[in-house]
Amino acid sequence: MNKKTILVTGGGGFIGSHLCERLLKEGNDVICVDNFFTGSKNNIRHLLSHPDFELIRHDITFPLFLEVNALYNLACPASPVHYQHNPIHTTKTNVIGAINMLGIAKRLKIPILQASTSEVYGDPKQHPQTEEYWGNVNPIGIRSCYDEGKRCAETLFFDYHRQGGVASKVVRIFNTYGPRMLPNDGRVVSNFIVQALKGEDITIYGDGSQSRSFCYIDDLVEALIRMMGTPAEITGPVNLGNPEEFTVMELAEKIIKMTSSKSKIVFHPLPQDDPIKRKPDISKAKKILKWQPLIPLDEGLVKTIQYFKKILNV
Ligand code: NAD
Ligand code: UDP
Repeated sequence: MNKKTILVTGGGGFIGSHLCERLLKEGNDVICVDNFFTGSKNNIRHLLSHPDFELIRHDITFPLFLEVNALYNLACPASPVHYQHNPIHTTKTNVIGAINMLGIAKRLKIPILQASTSEVYGDPKQHPQTEEYWGNVNPIGIRSCYDEGKRCAETLFFDYHRQGGVASKVVRIFNTYGPRMLPNDGRVVSNFIVQALKGEDITIYGDGSQSRSFCYIDDLVEALIRMMGTPAEITGPVNLGNPEEFTVMELAEKIIKMTSSKSKIVFHPLPQDDPIKRKPDISKAKKILKWQPLIPLDEGLVKTIQYFKKILNV
């Protein structure tokens, strides 16, 4: 009787595939919608034969009509390399895609969770970042399609909540990593691990002094599920991430050591608008969701390195 049908857009991607898996384990019917721009069927191949799993190849910038009980909106390329590949489509996915998904939530009166991002803080002037901080975002740069797209999506989620009574739930996800990131994803954790395992040069952009805070996928999925389970009046935004902060250089050295790699570090120019510091204040998540990350970076990296060793056959 209590079985729910849950729609996950971007369900073929890194975070989405783990979320689909977890929702199925909890006994839900899961509909995964993905256009496979950065996702992969390999991420969900093991779910295709599950009787409660359905896959729809669809681009969320086009309308969709489905009957579901809850919706996680994760569709959007997350790696800078990929979201900058077709920046206009990235904005369309964030804005038109959000309108289409919010339309479903409004019609069906169901909760909808938006995977927003720490990028809404841009290159932050406040450290660590709290949800009250409005951010420091370049509206016309190469990251803007993603940053401003996600900011506009947040605006839509709050306007649909205020004007349309939608149970919107906005989470701001900080750098998350783990198995099922694509080897060519372009993000720092997967790049460094793949380079280290193949004995290729480790490419540090800038001097490596910029910082990030890395959250392991299982911790993040737990938080997403808890957020969806909150009462309708809880809208967020809520920061989700691991507040342990590392420089990119520290990450490179850690990965070289953990893989016993002979790779050497090389330096490339820092991309435009690359944030210098990033670390979430997660007091709100601790209070509202009774959640905090449990998996330290070393432990998460071991699992991620194992995964890449397997898929790269090294
Ligand atoms: P990902 O690129 O692995 O997954 C995104 C998925 O969305 C892919 O399967 C892709 O094919 C699909 N997609 C893209 N555009 C689409 C469209 N128009 N229609 C349908 N499907 C589409 O990235 P991820 O790391 O799994 O990120 C998932 C979500 O979480 C994204 O919205 C991202 O912005 C957000 N997020 C992720 C992180 C992170 O560190 N991983 C941080 C902040 C926010
Ligand atoms: N980075 C790097 N080498 C790489 C990939 C990324 O030095 O091969 C840096 C990037 O410039 C940024 C940080 O690592 O400062 C995190 O980059 P990522 O693309 O993972 O995510 P971001 O947090 O920038 O969205």
